[in-house]
Amino acid sequence: MKSHVKAVVIGGGVVGCSVLYHLAKAGWTDIMLIERSELTSGSSWHAAGGFHTLNGDPNVAKLQAYTVQLYKEIEEISGQSCSLHLTGGVMMADTPARMDFLRLAHAKGRYLGMDTELITPSEAKAMFPLMDETNFVGAMWDPVEGHLDPSGTTIAYSKAAKKLGAEIVLRNRVVELTQEVDGTWNVVTEQGTVKAEHVVNCGGLWAREIGRMVGVELPVLAMEHMYLLTEPMPEVEEFNKSTGREMIGVLDFKGEIYTRQERNGILLGTYEKACKPWSPVNTPWDFGHELLQPDIDRIAPSLEIGFKHFPGIEKAGIKQIINGPFTFALDGNPLVGPVQGLTNFWCACAVMAGFSQGGGVGLALSNWMVHGDPGFDVWGMDVARFGEWASLRYTNAKVRENYSRRFSIRFPNEELPAARPAQTTPLYDTMLANNAVMGDSWGLETPLWFAPKGKEPKDILSFHRSNDFGPIGEEVRATRERVGVTEIANFAKYEVSGPGTEDFLNRLMTNRMPKTGRIVLTPMINEFGKLIGDFTIAKAGEDRFMIWGSSAAQKYHMRWFEKHLPKDGPRASEVRIHRFDQTLVGLSIAGPKSRDLLQKLVDVDISTKAFRFMDFREMAVGGAPCMVNRITYTGDLGYEIWMAPAYQRLVYKAIKEAGEEFGLVDFGMRALLSMRLEKNFPTWFRELRPIYGPFEGAMDRFIKLEKNDFIGREAAAKEQAEGPKLRRVSFFVDAADADVMGDEPIWAKVGKDYGTVEKPHGYGAPRFDTSGEEVRGSKAAQGASAVRGIVDGDWRVVGWVTSGGYAHYVQKSMAQGYVPAALAEDESTGLFEIEILGHRRPARINVEPPFDPSGEKMRT
Ligand SMILES: Cc1cc2nc3c(=O)[nH]c(=O)nc-3n(C[C@H](O)[C@H](O)[C@H](O)COP(=O)(O)OP(=O)(O)OC[C@H]3O[C@@H](n4cnc5c(N)ncnc54)[C@H](O)[C@@H]3O)c2cc1C
Repeated sequence: MKSHVKAVVIGGGVVGCSVLYHLAKAGWTDIMLIERSELTSGSSWHAAGGFHTLNGDPNVAKLQAYTVQLYKEIEEISGQSCSLHLTGGVMMADTPARMDFLRLAHAKGRYLGMDTELITPSEAKAMFPLMDETNFVGAMWDPVEGHLDPSGTTIAYSKAAKKLGAEIVLRNRVVELTQEVDGTWNVVTEQGTVKAEHVVNCGGLWAREIGRMVGVELPVLAMEHMYLLTEPMPEVEEFNKSTGREMIGVLDFKGEIYTRQERNGILLGTYEKACKPWSPVNTPWDFGHELLQPDIDRIAPSLEIGFKHFPGIEKAGIKQIINGPFTFALDGNPLVGPVQGLTNFWCACAVMAGFSQGGGVGLALSNWMVHGDPGFDVWGMDVARFGEWASLRYTNAKVRENYSRRFSIRFPNEELPAARPAQTTPLYDTMLANNAVMGDSWGLETPLWFAPKGKEPKDILSFHRSNDFGPIGEEVRATRERVGVTEIANFAKYEVSGPGTEDFLNRLMTNRMPKTGRIVLTPMINEFGKLIGDFTIAKAGEDRFMIWGSSAAQKYHMRWFEKHLPKDGPRASEVRIHRFDQTLVGLSIAGPKSRDLLQKLVDVDISTKAFRFMDFREMAVGGAPCMVNRITYTGDLGYEIWMAPAYQRLVYKAIKEAGEEFGLVDFGMRALLSMRLEKNFPTWFRELRPIYGPFEGAMDRFIKLEKNDFIGREAAAKEQAEGPKLRRVSFFVDAADADVMGDEPIWAKVGKDYGTVEKPHGYGAPRFDTSGEEVRGSKAAQGASAVRGIVDGDWRVVGWVTSGGYAHYVQKSMAQGYVPAALAEDESTGLFEIEILGHRRPARINVEPPFDPSGEKMRT
């Protein structure tokens, strides 16, 4: 065993071996994988070995597609077979709502280059004759599904990594991790200490324990999981013989089960409602190649539905039930990337579908470690996406919820109940008393909308417009015409102070820093010129700045700020960054009467000239010390008022009392988001993400290339000089009773004379190739209906929706998204269509925002 290496990967499951392979492939060969026992000694050896590409997050879906196509490569390099069976698979919908879900998934696939198809239950039965198709209303076929040998695949990764120069040490547990002042890690193992620049936690079932070695409680929990294997079945053998094909994989939403052929019989697994965590607090180190006791009673309700839907299986004898543990994060996606607050400590854990995701996780992490950036959009699995509120008990509740809903539909207006309320502001009870429907915003209870008096404050779940439509419209109209108040505690808030702060921010941000008492809006970009943040910054005093940003990105942004703090020279570590979390809360008032209202509560002049648009002041509001920004996301005259939580009730009460004469209303987040749509304002993580450049994101006026050198300046200058390939645009959509939700394809009638555009910063990117060659779906679909690809006559999929909804004041359905830049200013009618729930709806670009295009109302 070497004593010094560049990186140590802890854990020899499928994920650790994939990370090792990808690091070696990227050129880091001075690396070592340390495994406690033998390879696959965690959850990898007893996996059912299924793989598929579909994922709720299109970016994770792309990683899954990459994983599947990687297997041939590692087989070739290692000489080890993965026993790949690319059978294809179907998802079965038993209700119209589940069919809507499949339509959405299918539509997303159009610009991700996926060949899914919507097919009938009978077509599905032709590929899996054990089902009773009368239980279903429709299905979606995905050709890129199948199964493999989990151990063979893990070994193939490890052999390929070794061939490239990596070292693997078996039967050697890592027992402690310490770090020297210079950042070197001491990886203390049973066989001695290895010094490493980087440590990667691929501990699988023990990832939580490895996190604890460095003082981090990772939000990951192992759950018991069962699948059964039947005796050989004559029906299966007969099907194989008569068709020359293996039976396909089937996913049944209603039963929360998956099933497929295994040898001459069937494998059937369940995600049962009565699920059970395994080792909820500590994972025993002596757990090895053993299985857990099966508990057939627990999966009986799922089996009952399964046997009804697949009567062919009921008749077969059960040969074996496998029960094994594997890990999940709160939302079921992996935890990948550098851990905020630590140097060179990386995670690749909570990978619940190692054989669908392991390759993509390995690629993303190795890119990140070697090149400083994952290389594509990995927010959906970034370890920074959860905050401190994701404690051990929170994780336990949320993972159970996630497991029991593994194949359940999540409606766009659905808030999940487990582990709530976690964080609340002092106004929580008041908001409930006001009949608010609350939502979870990064662990914080936040009012979404207010139900009318006498009505139950509850969403009716739907893909279509629902019971919040009318009340949100009222909130919007009252705010636009009079004045409204809303809670904004769910923004991220930071104070950056100390000598050198302005230089530090100027180096990080694309816009110039404001003068004292003024505010600027500014994106932040990385070295590759991609958007990694969007902030409101106020200069509160000499060497003191207040920053507001996206709540969900707090750890993500702190990680970036900390990485770029001045480390050398006289200014080293003089800059201090404080993240407030919920120690600073806020209220926003907006609408034409908001100034009259605020003037009643303050003792200073806030007339247009005295307190201008984009001004910042510290002032007492209703007697409470506050910071006030003359700015609002609704696009009206308005103010953001920030205070310590102890004052929030006082300020709210004062606003409510003073607002009575102006007809003040409470409004929630959904009204706020509706109002920003009619101003064409973008949102972080929807319109603005690390795959877009600032000019693609239409953030031109905030990019000051001439101000000073800043991170990403060169790349941004290049983007500007060459012209962005894509452009963020806003649409009016001729929608019926459903608006866009995000990720819908945008079609354009552009004929054949249009160039090629790729979704940037990804691999195997969705290609909008309009060279004339028709892109067709799966030829493997046995007996499936004709395919609708991304080309349909003169119509082509040219882009994707990022978000949208109903803009209540202008009374139009609106959407934002990305299209090729050459089309971005074309407001012609008949040029675009946006696919909503399987129906293509006419859409028209609106270059100017429909509400107050000149911005006069904000400035008055
Ligand atoms: C019953 C069942 C069915 C499944 N079916 C599927 C399926 O069909 N498809 C699919 O994609 N996934 C499936 N999975 C999930 C799949 O098994 C996991 O996603 C995958 O195994 C995760 O791999 P990993 O490398 O992250 O973790 P693990 O396999 O748990 O590997 C972690 C490794 O780290 C080692 N380790 C931990 N701590 C230390 C330490 N301190 N020092 C040294 N070594 C350490 C362990 O010994 C272990 O070998 C299934 C799981 C189960 C239980």
